[in-house]
Amino acid sequence: MTSRRNFIKAAGTVTAGIAATSSASEVLAAGAKEAAPKKYSGPHQMPTKVTLLSMLNEDGTETLGAKTASAVVDIRKAAKLLGMAAPLTLEELLREGNASGLNKLIAAAQSSSKAKPALLDESKITHGRLFTNPGKIVCIGLNYRAHVAEAAMKLPSVPILFNKYNNALAAHNCTIKLPPREVSYKFDYETELLIVMGKKARNVTEAEALNYVAGYCTSQDFSARDLQLETPSVQWMVGKTLDNFGPIGPYFVSADVVGDPNNLNIETYVNGEKRQSSNTSFMIFNPQKLIAYISKLWTLEPGDIIWSGTPEGVILGLPKEKQVWLKAGDEIVSSIEKLGDLKFKLA
Ligand code: MG
Repeated sequence: MTSRRNFIKAAGTVTAGIAATSSASEVLAAGAKEAAPKKYSGPHQMPTKVTLLSMLNEDGTETLGAKTASAVVDIRKAAKLLGMAAPLTLEELLREGNASGLNKLIAAAQSSSKAKPALLDESKITHGRLFTNPGKIVCIGLNYRAHVAEAAMKLPSVPILFNKYNNALAAHNCTIKLPPREVSYKFDYETELLIVMGKKARNVTEAEALNYVAGYCTSQDFSARDLQLETPSVQWMVGKTLDNFGPIGPYFVSADVVGDPNNLNIETYVNGEKRQSSNTSFMIFNPQKLIAYISKLWTLEPGDIIWSGTPEGVILGLPKEKQVWLKAGDEIVSSIEKLGDLKFKLA
């Protein structure tokens, strides 16, 4: 741990030019900004025993919060107050593998009076994006039998893969600004279990696949059906990656806390009305099968994310005369057991 004296010394070195004209507290603040914490160089560790969220800060940054029984620990603030190094974003945590640093900081923040200002009331937090720059965003189509049937499509013999881009990544409580009608108007929901990779995976077997998973999130594969299916040919990616068409959250829950990902209730509500209600046990290709299959094609890296497909109950699955597409003003809730309720609005 960096002592206060060493910290001030280091701050003074970095900001020697400023020190001549500034007060000690100003130097400390400037030093804290410029002196980057030492990068973690230990063994790669997967996150355990954590439920994390992303906070949108006043300075525009998005940094980690850790949900505990009594409060949310503002990781950036706690690290600064306690002089401890810890990953400040979920992607940093997954890539650096400094899970013990994070857990130590969470524990210290709860027991030290110095860190009290870093303990926040969750209801007052503005959520940021859990992911901003994943290496890969892999999405799976037609992965629940009843959804394949309602979409009147053929049962896939291997997982159907498509992708989103980073522009689609969005936060819990976000608002999706819908494009003008001439671009698209057939908007539909798809609640999905998001699989978050925690270790490099290449040619892994189904039996070992879940050992490579860091955790899970509730997510939406928000879709523009006209762009997806009528452009004029089928172009799944086009209908799936408009700005903010991939909300994720509110939490990342580590795999050890979730346990078996193959038996989680999954639901969608539109303006309070239940539209989707299924269970991840009905996936055609479960998370183990998906990871084994994808890792035969290419390397999966820590921080890569996989949208694992949606169950039945989407608007596309209704008879044509009953299809009422989503519109501005609608409020959607995606809910997955153990992972929390992801909320967003349309405008
Ligand atoms: Mg989908």
